[in-house]
Amino acid sequence: MYSIATIAEVTGAELLQPGDTGRSIAHLLHDSRAVTFPDSSLFFALQTARSDGHRFIDDAWRKGVRAFVISHEVDRNAFAGASFLRVPDTLAALQALAAWHRAQFDLPVIGITGSNGKTIVKEWLQQLLEPEHRIVRSPRSYNSQIGVALSVWQLRPEHTLALFEAGISQPGEMERLARMIRPTVGVLTNIGSAHDEGFLDTEQKRSEKGRLFEGARAVIGPEPWTGLLPQHISWGVESGASLHMVRLEQGTPTLVQAEYRGVPVEIRIPFSDEASVSNALTCTCVLIYLGYSIDTINERLAGLQAVDMRLQLKHGAGGCTLINDSYSADFTSLQLALNFMAQQQTGQPRTVILSDFAESGSAPDRFYPQVARALEGAAVGKAVLIGHDVTRHLSLPPSVEVQRYASTEDFLEQYHPAQFHEETILVKGARHFRFERIVAALETRVHQTVLEINLNALAHNLKQYRALLAPGTKVMAMVKAFSYGSGSSEVASILQFHHVDYLGVAYADEGVALRQAGISLPIMVMNADASSFDVLVEWQLQPVLYSFGILQDFERYLQRAGLQAWPVHVEVETGMNRLGFSSVEIPSLARHLQQTGWLRVQSVFSHLAASEDPAQDGFTDEQGARFATMVAALEAALPYRFLKHISNSAAIIRHPALQLDMVRLGIGLYGVEIETKQLELEAVATLRSTIAQLKRLEAGETVSYNRRGVVKEASLIATVRIGYADGYSRRLGYGVGKMYVNGHLAPVIGTVCMDMTMIDVTHVPGVREGDEVILFGKPLPVQQLADWIGTIPYEVMTGVSQRVKRVYFQE
Ligand SMILES: *Cc1c(COP(=O)(O)O)cnc(C)c1O
Repeated sequence: MYSIATIAEVTGAELLQPGDTGRSIAHLLHDSRAVTFPDSSLFFALQTARSDGHRFIDDAWRKGVRAFVISHEVDRNAFAGASFLRVPDTLAALQALAAWHRAQFDLPVIGITGSNGKTIVKEWLQQLLEPEHRIVRSPRSYNSQIGVALSVWQLRPEHTLALFEAGISQPGEMERLARMIRPTVGVLTNIGSAHDEGFLDTEQKRSEKGRLFEGARAVIGPEPWTGLLPQHISWGVESGASLHMVRLEQGTPTLVQAEYRGVPVEIRIPFSDEASVSNALTCTCVLIYLGYSIDTINERLAGLQAVDMRLQLKHGAGGCTLINDSYSADFTSLQLALNFMAQQQTGQPRTVILSDFAESGSAPDRFYPQVARALEGAAVGKAVLIGHDVTRHLSLPPSVEVQRYASTEDFLEQYHPAQFHEETILVKGARHFRFERIVAALETRVHQTVLEINLNALAHNLKQYRALLAPGTKVMAMVKAFSYGSGSSEVASILQFHHVDYLGVAYADEGVALRQAGISLPIMVMNADASSFDVLVEWQLQPVLYSFGILQDFERYLQRAGLQAWPVHVEVETGMNRLGFSSVEIPSLARHLQQTGWLRVQSVFSHLAASEDPAQDGFTDEQGARFATMVAALEAALPYRFLKHISNSAAIIRHPALQLDMVRLGIGLYGVEIETKQLELEAVATLRSTIAQLKRLEAGETVSYNRRGVVKEASLIATVRIGYADGYSRRLGYGVGKMYVNGHLAPVIGTVCMDMTMIDVTHVPGVREGDEVILFGKPLPVQQLADWIGTIPYEVMTGVSQRVKRVYFQE
């Protein structure tokens, strides 16, 4: 904890308004949505290309925060008694404070960088070294310019070892991270092509990454290192490698025969995939450097657990929403998980299931009151406490219902499905409590086919498109048809969190569902009709007016209801010939809108018919020109301003001149780029199922209805739990479609049935009943599936039926 006065000195800030300069600061904030300890928090108003933290000072103030670091003037009269520290650059000040805090400690610090595997190597080192050490580490994958500052800030006198990640995407960034981390040992996981965009070449990236290691005593990693470092411990097949690999036998465990300083050693790694083996070898070299014997290393490696840091959101029994974070229990990750829970606007009461905490050991009296405040701050109504420490030391106010269990087994023995009903439940436990068993008990398992939605990928795709927009261009995210099949309120919550400006739906019902889930963004309804005006108005939705018919109906409705200046959108026809006012109607529309007091035009838009098609670029330009003319007439008539928009996903990439005031982003958000390959999008939805049964058939036998799937040689056939009723098209039958099983593509054999489909897995090694099958997703693009049956990804994605359970992930 440092006083405001000290922090002002360290950051070289000007104390514009002193407030209480003796106030102790324990928490650094940059997101006003995540306030837990307002009294002891310092808010940094960070400025990025897209957002300005100064805009959220008011929000933080209302939540009780009284200390702020700013870089430009704010109306301080509104915040009497608060401390305001002014600096030229708020991010630099945050980093300077973190660097200064780091300098107060003298302990081994392992700095980890590389293109992939940073988080896994960090988590594994934590698993391997925790018997001897009190470790502080970056939460999750906090490795950015902000994340590193917040990670370093967690350093306390009781720590004996630090593990910090550093991630960079552009030249010049590492120096700033290095100043905060100041590693005594450096780890370089690898140099791949990931995040290449900001670098001239791999060499530049390597030298930039090397910056992290400038003050380190040793560097460890798979690549030969040519810096001027006193010590380098590498692994590899070249004879120069410190851990020189002679033989590798992949399996579980994978056996690595190697020589270390001329002595033969065998290393056993409990994973078989290449990435895990590589990460485990890097960890092995770190342990060798720290003086561990090969025997101890092998013992520890045997207990290594896969790292799944993803926050999972899924539907549980009894209408509950489950947030599965059963990988770790430390205070920072609890706060992150509670924020994630708050972000899910489920409207349900909040419950947590909590185990003992890793860091509570030495000072439970100091630690657990913090946990109690965090739970209170997140409006948790019910707490299920499991474990010796947490049940004894965590005391919660009487308003919270508390249940206590000595162990996970105890809980499971007494668990009854009626115990939880329509609650949002955060399941958060330290690894050895094995809370995944609790998650399994709370889940409903009716049908083993799921559509998995990766919310990080969604946010990533949004960012990719935003990078193409001119500053100030707004984004309307199209979430019609259950967000192109990906589920509605969960997707909309993430979009709201990432500050899109508008949401677009097709029908009023879809908008109502979003409002009921707590979405407060403005919502445009493209296809409203007279029967839906009541709900439109009740739920604050904004209809599209595309003809005089609907305009007059709506106006009459507003008149009767006595509502003035209702926000509406006007669609004009430029060539799609679907909905919209035609050019000849524009003069009378303009006159009408000029006079009416019932409507207030928020935006005028049109839809492009072929923005993805180079052969139609002439027509697209013509649509743009027609739109400009029609808009000009409306602009001349209306006494106020409105937004203009015409671009869909493909147009954002192919027709930047048509970005105008706003773009309507649809399919690209879900990870599909039509025609172009300019962005690095990530698949958002993965459709998975499982194998119900395997059969060995002889040549001549047939499979499925009407005997149209004929087996030509002795074959192994798998029955998969998906059919056309789930949205797996019958057109994929007879070998047209393929499914992804254990890394191979297996063709569909015979007719697709209503609930099941058979595939030929004769040539897929090691298939077993219960194995997972991927229908589309990362390894099998939805575009490919669409191509097989001559349709477009839109149809495949929206065709996944509602009986397929949606499961949401956030990393
Ligand atoms: C669906 C839709 C979009 C989004 O189109 P994508 O090709 O998915 O980006 C944009 N505008 C309107 C009017 C739409 O109906």
